[in-house]
Amino acid sequence: MADMFYDDNADLSIIQGRKVAVIGFGSQGHAHALNLRDSGVDVRIGLKEGSKSRAKAEEQGLTVGTVDEVAQWADVIMILTPDQHQRTVFAESIKDNLKDGDVLLFAHGFNIRYNYIEAPKGVDVAMVAPKGPGHTVRREYEAGRGVPVIVAVEHNESGSAWDIALSYAKAIGGLRAGGIRTTFTEETETDLFGEQAVLCGGMSHLVQAGFETLTEAGYQPEIAYFEVLHELKLIVDLMVEGGISKQRWSISDTAEFGDYVSGPRVVDENVKKNMKAVLEDIQNGDFAKRFIDDQDGGAKEFAELREKEAAHPIEGVGKELRGMFSWNANQLDSDYTEGSA
Ligand code: NDP
Ligand code: MG
Ligand code: MG
Repeated sequence: MADMFYDDNADLSIIQGRKVAVIGFGSQGHAHALNLRDSGVDVRIGLKEGSKSRAKAEEQGLTVGTVDEVAQWADVIMILTPDQHQRTVFAESIKDNLKDGDVLLFAHGFNIRYNYIEAPKGVDVAMVAPKGPGHTVRREYEAGRGVPVIVAVEHNESGSAWDIALSYAKAIGGLRAGGIRTTFTEETETDLFGEQAVLCGGMSHLVQAGFETLTEAGYQPEIAYFEVLHELKLIVDLMVEGGISKQRWSISDTAEFGDYVSGPRVVDENVKKNMKAVLEDIQNGDFAKRFIDDQDGGAKEFAELREKEAAHPIEGVGKELRGMFSWNANQLDSDYTEGSA
């Protein structure tokens, strides 16, 4: 069984005694910063000059400075800008402000695992990675609960990196749900694999292929949308509550039998072979290099793919349908239409 941590395993006063800079005020940034503040932690937000997020952070009564200013002030720095910008922010505005005893924190191991960031000697490097979107991290905390976190220490120069990381994890509400001990390598590789092969890449393309199959066979797109996309959430909720078995327990016998006989025809041994190839590209750094090289060249491949995928017919049908029903009038939807998380 993995090493688990709960509120009782962490001392909140450790992080309350430090000065914490949160760099970035996006999806994770706003959630960490507000949860830390509400847990009695001295926190400041670091943003670049002219940042669009500045107003949102100031609205919350938070102190905002440039990344340089808050990095100089802080002795714990959590980097929550997009992964592809972290190494530049670090090189330009954080590195020279680090002193012995400072702690550098991440919510994803990408830049440490692929050596885009190297912390100077004397600085602890740790990770507190919530296993959920930032808006859920904030919402759960406000409801008195938390989103599970995974915690890792890469450099323990002070000897107390674990205590600080766990104290931070407690302050953002993560240890209410529970924390699991991991390493930067394990977190980075499994996180990338999970999002590429199953959660995001796998799911998006499974849904698109299902939609195409039905509409190409002449069925109405609106019906196809409900059958292959809308109902996903109901199925996934059951899986999260009680595993694949609870989902199979709740669906009809017809659906359950179809699961057993047709599931393996769709997800056959080729799919697993492809998954292994995806994992290999993650492990050998090819995916990271492709992503970062493209970003450095102006993100052309990224922009092309984004545009192509957004034009898939299921998006238009879905937009129209969601507008006709009330279930989607929630916070996340309005956050999403504002653009940046
Ligand atoms: P976001 O894309 O939401 O971060 C946007 C924020 O970063 C904005 O405040 C933006 O400012 C700021 N920013 C962007 N570029 C820079 C820069 N060059 N210098 C300073 N600030 C900058 O990031 P996420 O929250 O999605 O991701 C943050 C980290 O958390 C990543 O490591 C990610 O892998 C990890 N993570 C994310 C999860 C999620 O829920 N999204 C889940 C778990 C981990 P502006 O408004 O000016 O653009
Ligand atoms: Mg991820
Ligand atoms: Mg059905």
